[in-house]
Amino acid sequence: MSSVKYIFVTGGVSSSLGKGIVAASLAKLLQARGYRVTIQKFDPYLNIDPGTLNPYEHGECYVTDDGAETDLDLGHYERFLDISTSQKNNITTGRIYNNVITKERQGAFLGKTVQVVPHITDEIKKNFQLLAQNDEYDIILTEIGGTVGDIESFPFLEAVRQFRWEMAPHDTLVIHLTLLPFLKAAGELKTKPTQHSVKMLSEAGIQPDILVCRSEYPVNTELRKKIALFCNVNVNSVIESIDAESIYDVPLLMKKEKLDERVLAKLKMAHKNEPDLESWKIFLGRLKTPTREVKITVVGKYVELPDAYKSIAESFVHAGVENECKVRLKWVQSEHLTEENLEASLGSPDGILVAPGFGSRGLDGKIIAVKYARENKIPFFGICLGMQCAVIEYGRNVVGIKDANSSEIDPQSPNPVIDMMEAQKRVTQKGGTMRLGAYPCEITKGTRAYTIYGKSKISERHRHRFEFNNKYLDRYTKAGMIASGINPDSNLVEIVEIKDHPFFLGVQFHPELKSTALNPHPIFVKFVKAAMDNSLNK
Ligand code: GLN
Repeated sequence: MSSVKYIFVTGGVSSSLGKGIVAASLAKLLQARGYRVTIQKFDPYLNIDPGTLNPYEHGECYVTDDGAETDLDLGHYERFLDISTSQKNNITTGRIYNNVITKERQGAFLGKTVQVVPHITDEIKKNFQLLAQNDEYDIILTEIGGTVGDIESFPFLEAVRQFRWEMAPHDTLVIHLTLLPFLKAAGELKTKPTQHSVKMLSEAGIQPDILVCRSEYPVNTELRKKIALFCNVNVNSVIESIDAESIYDVPLLMKKEKLDERVLAKLKMAHKNEPDLESWKIFLGRLKTPTREVKITVVGKYVELPDAYKSIAESFVHAGVENECKVRLKWVQSEHLTEENLEASLGSPDGILVAPGFGSRGLDGKIIAVKYARENKIPFFGICLGMQCAVIEYGRNVVGIKDANSSEIDPQSPNPVIDMMEAQKRVTQKGGTMRLGAYPCEITKGTRAYTIYGKSKISERHRHRFEFNNKYLDRYTKAGMIASGINPDSNLVEIVEIKDHPFFLGVQFHPELKSTALNPHPIFVKFVKAAMDNSLNK
């Protein structure tokens, strides 16, 4: 356990500087040198996990194989590193307190007063090491959410301070990410906010080893020297992080700045090999030189906030690269869709994706978008609630069940073609109680789904309470909508499709959670291909 090295990434000056991307990029470089690396995120809010947060509050909720509802940064970690993260990779203040309070109720503190220091900080330090237990990693990166100076993240920083003091000097490292704002009037990048933020970090007892400075313009040597002098770091530990065209550029930008070399030197680790970034460079090359372009309209209800559908957007980037095609996404608010404005709002797309979601807001708009795609033979892909909408639409307009509905929308519906799963009916608590994480699915040979995956046994991640109601399966099959993927243990329908259509697929699971830069998800790849074919036939 002691051989594991710990890198902490903190942020200062402003939020949204892209700590997750910088952490994932560094991890990518270290992984490409042959080190076994993982990343975890510590979030300073009191929710036990982000599963109960509205996407408008915190963006998408990312679900891991083991069913953890986590921060969207874990999606970046998986997409960059091609690793599977777990419950252990995302810890919130809420979870830390919950663990400590549960122990207190069990009498574990033997009459002691339970306090932030040492009990909360001890629990945080224990959680820093959760991933170190099975000798799976050489390096563990820990991203500390929030910005230095926030009341909320203080216990995390105090735990980092103690942890560094307890560990051998070269076993831990702190990277602080800051912003160098450009003042137009002065015509220069300003270092003062960075100085202040490092000062605040030092007041918490933490001297950062490396500064990564976000900037819109190149950071010259003069400026680097100034920052180094005032912030107590080596000049070659002042790393520029210039705005990038794509997040996937950042690993190469960090390599150019030698961030990985600085890290290895400070941790006294061997430089091993040069990072092997061949496939990453090929990916980037294709990303920058698409030969075609398609327009895909995404119909959803959180479209005002792009982070709410982060994994879907990134899956389209991956699938576009695979097809050497630029995918232009148009985000359409389903709540505003009507029969009258539908065509104009969708904007003659080459493909339509109906997004996941919860509750009734915007549902009618999603249903008419499905109908439009089905009738006009536009490639259609429905994810989770999007698949459920496809089932409702087909029920109402093709199977002949005029009042087909989901019991999520109308609990009294006489024809709940989408109904609550049996196991969910006994659930009373909200957080972490949906059908979550990876489940197996068996695909029928000869179907579109089988052609897409090229195999019959797959595993995909889930996050839902409602499902296709198997009482209606016969009627749907006879009317032309088949269940091409089924969970072998529970018989739940996982994939539906229709035949006489260029591409019409609905999935109960979330394929977007498994698409990575170097391993694009086959459904997204084939959906983009179908959209490309459609655009040629127009
Ligand atoms: N609200 C639906 C359900 O719970 C769909 C969930 C989703 O789209 N993630 O089944």
